[in-house]
Amino acid sequence: MTIDLSGALLSAFEKAKKEYKKEVENGNIELAKEKAMECSRILKALAKNVPSYSNFYLDKAKKWQKIAENLDKKEIEKETTDEFKSYIETLISKSSVTWNEIGGLEKVKQLMMETIVLAGLKKPESVKPWRGILLFGPPGTGKTLLAAASAGSLNATFFNVEAGKVLSKYFGESSKLISTLYKVARERAPSIVFIDEFDALSLSRGMDVSEASRRMLSTLLANLDGFQDKNYNEFVLTLAATNTPWDLDEAILSRFPRRIFVPLPDKKACMEIIKIHAKGIDISKINLSQLAEMCVKRLYSGREIASLCQLAIWNMIREENRNLIKYANLSYEELTKKSLKVRALEMRDFANAFDRVKTPLTKDKLRKYEEWNERYGEKF
Ligand code: ADP
Repeated sequence: MTIDLSGALLSAFEKAKKEYKKEVENGNIELAKEKAMECSRILKALAKNVPSYSNFYLDKAKKWQKIAENLDKKEIEKETTDEFKSYIETLISKSSVTWNEIGGLEKVKQLMMETIVLAGLKKPESVKPWRGILLFGPPGTGKTLLAAASAGSLNATFFNVEAGKVLSKYFGESSKLISTLYKVARERAPSIVFIDEFDALSLSRGMDVSEASRRMLSTLLANLDGFQDKNYNEFVLTLAATNTPWDLDEAILSRFPRRIFVPLPDKKACMEIIKIHAKGIDISKINLSQLAEMCVKRLYSGREIASLCQLAIWNMIREENRNLIKYANLSYEELTKKSLKVRALEMRDFANAFDRVKTPLTKDKLRKYEEWNERYGEKF
């Protein structure tokens, strides 16, 4: 009696095929070859074990043998580069954000504008523009916005990279992804590379992650230093952002001599941010100064102020357009012929909005940012 091994062989084949793909993705040509040969061997065994499908499996076995013989390093590299490039495309955008859309942060904006202007101007060789800046501060204070405005003002290609996401998606490959990213950034210069969650690359994490992140970080730093942007066409500015600067070790910090604190907005900045997020709506009836004081007291960041304004605006809209859903049956074209009823915002529109918007911050945490800034931040 012959034992039916086809089930076990098929599982072994699926496993070997998966491993083959993984090795191809990692660019390990020799290991990929071995796996392709293993696929071929398993298929030959299947041909023996299932005589009625013998020819079918033998054909497949030959194909896998050919794959193993023809596996070409260049081809593999091209495949991975193509995959990286299409992922990188998803990180790219053209930013239309302007400096006017950022409330407060006058000194920070000034410093970033200087950096950008300097990059563009003709200058003596010894004048080197900054190529990397670290932005740190509580979440929602405008770090991404500053990066987007830098890109917007230069009409630069904007790469919005979340370090943590790249690490979890590409892990051991994340360093290769970063070098491809900088290659694309140079090709499409002027470019702004915004690396959010920069702390994810800190060395003080778990063992495995630390190896992958260490490699990704060193590639990033090499790209920061590695090429001279002698002319505007090669300008690539890296803006790294973190909400937890104390997670960065000294070695990383020394590579980012410019560390800029992006703090919570003060009263004046809160007033500006409210104006920005209520643009197009009459705010003459609200007590802007009182609202701003409440925002400061509640430790609101720009993000919370934006939410607050949206909620207040919605309160006003619902009140003015009680029968809004009756338009739900209209086509988009018909809708565009009608207008929403609006009135001036009033203090009462904000009342329940304040209850609904909560800050993740505490005074203790804020103190931690200030202390870190004292010690490591740029002195204006
Ligand atoms: P971060 O990157 O610091 O976490 P973001 O730049 O992503 O914060 O800000 C989130 C949102 O909050 C922005 O898209 C914007 O709507 C609002 N915001 C934050 N800071 C400001 C600011 N200074 N001026 C205007 N809007 C702001």
